[in-house]
Amino acid sequence: MQKMTVRDINIKAKKVIIRLDFNVPLDGTFHITDDRRITAALPTIQYVLSQGASKVILMSHLGRPKGAGFEKDFSLEPVAHHLQDLLGEKVLFLNDCIGPSVKDAIAKSSERVVLLENLRFYKAEEKNDPAFAKELASLADVYVNDAFGTAHRAHASTAGITAYLPSVAGFLIEKELQYLGNAINNPKRPLVIILGGAKVSDKIELIKNLIPKANSIIIGGGMAYTFLKAQGINVGNSKLEKDKIDMARELMEQAKKAGVQMALTTDFVITQSFSSDDCKISDVIPDGWEALDIGPKTIQYYKDILSKAKTVVWNGPLGVFERDAYATGTRAIADYLASLKDVTVIVGGGDSAAAVAKFGLEDKMTHISTGGGASLEFLEGKTLPGIAALNDKKT
Ligand code: AMP
Repeated sequence: MQKMTVRDINIKAKKVIIRLDFNVPLDGTFHITDDRRITAALPTIQYVLSQGASKVILMSHLGRPKGAGFEKDFSLEPVAHHLQDLLGEKVLFLNDCIGPSVKDAIAKSSERVVLLENLRFYKAEEKNDPAFAKELASLADVYVNDAFGTAHRAHASTAGITAYLPSVAGFLIEKELQYLGNAINNPKRPLVIILGGAKVSDKIELIKNLIPKANSIIIGGGMAYTFLKAQGINVGNSKLEKDKIDMARELMEQAKKAGVQMALTTDFVITQSFSSDDCKISDVIPDGWEALDIGPKTIQYYKDILSKAKTVVWNGPLGVFERDAYATGTRAIADYLASLKDVTVIVGGGDSAAAVAKFGLEDKMTHISTGGGASLEFLEGKTLPGIAALNDKKT
């Protein structure tokens, strides 16, 4: 990686401020229901502590508060308690993230680890306000970004702060860039991309960027019907973006010219009502019916393509996987990917990661991205502002 990481900077006796993604789900009693984002942050925190940093100041957002001050539902206090248990070391929680009281508390604290309150209690965070970024920077000597999930956003804590401090990446960001970057820029071939999810419009840039890189692109989920319609196939009431039919046709032509196989859904699980689980398998989608999952022939077709793959990148579920009646296709492909030997399987964040978790197959994938929007933008070939802003490695 061309960006400096925590390994490339002296942090002994320094105050280190780390941007993490502690945006964890909480239940009605403020218990953390899934702590993976916290455990994913531990290697960087532990490394910084082991290198003798004098203070490790942690900051994050949680949820979508209004940006007008404290809201209990979005407080990071439960994270502080949980982190303390995981680290086995006291964590000082501060009920603000900037200002003289925060500076004072850090200066007087005996604890090495400090967690600041939710950055998004200030509108200035998402506005990338320079004065707010400078205030955050004034708490430390070195800045580490390890919040891959927000790296695609230019916020004060992900981009603005880098104007005031030496700025390096943490291990999670390093790992994400390594896996995602290698998969599309330096893959073992054949490279097969699986795309699903609701909308073609969300994935156009992704497909454009991947056509020159992939050997095969499998298209399933709700986005497949716009491609099928572009081929003159009846899709009934299935999800369709009429204004993207021409674009779908163009993408198929681009793929053909580039010699990239584009595999579309060939049979379906169809229903007469989205809200009903009453469904059947069919080779066609008659008027009045809509398709909510791929059928068995498609599953086999996709598996045949995947059986030749050496690298697979998966972004988007192949059906309405949240409902058991329409989860069969997504589950079958996830199971198949889990069974592959000597194949690198990278799962994008967001819904595909949620699907793999639902089927209990997380340990069977090579890498599951912790960032939905960030991994999508990275795979689209975009520059992520939170990463671009970090110091380049010295040559
Ligand atoms: P995305 O956020 O674009 O990755 O889309 C994920 C959503 O697409 C999930 O909530 C799925 O339920 C939905 N989805 C997948 N396949 C279909 C389909 N055939 N019809 C309608 N929605 C679908």
